[in-house]
Amino acid sequence: MLSEAVIAGADKLRREPSGRLSPYMISSCALRTYKNWKGKGDPPTGVQRLRMNDGHYQEQEMMDDLVRAGFEITDRQLPLHIGPMRGRLDGLITVDSKVYLLECKAMSLTGYTKFKQRGFGVQPGFRVQTQLYLASDELRKIGVDSGFLYCKHKDTCSPFDLFFERDPEFTSGIEKQVQSLLDGKVPVPSRCPVCPVCPHRLECWGAEVVDFSGVHTASLPEMVAQWKTGTAHKQMGKELVDESRAAFKAELGDKDVIFIDDLKVLKIFPVRGGISETKFVEKYGAAALAGVWEEKRIEQMRVQEVEL
Ligand code: SF4
Repeated sequence: MLSEAVIAGADKLRREPSGRLSPYMISSCALRTYKNWKGKGDPPTGVQRLRMNDGHYQEQEMMDDLVRAGFEITDRQLPLHIGPMRGRLDGLITVDSKVYLLECKAMSLTGYTKFKQRGFGVQPGFRVQTQLYLASDELRKIGVDSGFLYCKHKDTCSPFDLFFERDPEFTSGIEKQVQSLLDGKVPVPSRCPVCPVCPHRLECWGAEVVDFSGVHTASLPEMVAQWKTGTAHKQMGKELVDESRAAFKAELGDKDVIFIDDLKVLKIFPVRGGISETKFVEKYGAAALAGVWEEKRIEQMRVQEVEL
């Protein structure tokens, strides 16, 4: 009952589009920018609004963590002017006496992991937003030309930060896109890296768009055929061996050893040692387990067939 009331309360927060372009609406895809600007697509649901609100609390928490770590943060929510656009800065951070733009993002496990691996490549919107902020009248006036995108994984609170510098060439492309929209041009769908994660992908392409940007390909047809043949033999061999073992086990029964044709079948009792985690925790406590627990990264390889 409480949850339904909270979702309904958040649902009431729906606002009509202001008609003004803001950096958070801008995408490297002009059509997506246009749709964000004109309020096309489904408005956020109550739960999505709760998540957006949660972002503000998460941002505050990240700021607190940075301050606790000794960094000075100023100009929270400073209004920025970027041509016809208006935005608000998360803040400025001073590191070794130099002032940088600070943008905070809390992320889900998937978002956090991918961002750590591939940076702005998987979050092009973050790049657009931060570059536009660096291009603002206010930050250029005070000479801030680089910044940190500080993010954390929402569940574990693990932090990660990415340094970036102003890229005037990139920003000028965005400014041209914005000007063309303001001049009344309506863009058409154009396949780009944003499509696989874009909420308009079905409307634009009529089907899911697969992200191949992090996928590397190669061709070794002979080795692939060999692997498939070998794997099939291995599977067939395992089935034959399993069936024979079941028959030998039945013959062995409660005897210690038996000769079956030219095979000797023995009953053996291998002893395997190890520590029971449950018993350890019962005896010494969970904190003691954490003190002796070691994890090792072991490189392995998995080969799977895929449908092409
Ligand atoms: S699906 Fe692709 S082309 Fe369509 S609006 Fe999104 S990013 Fe642009």
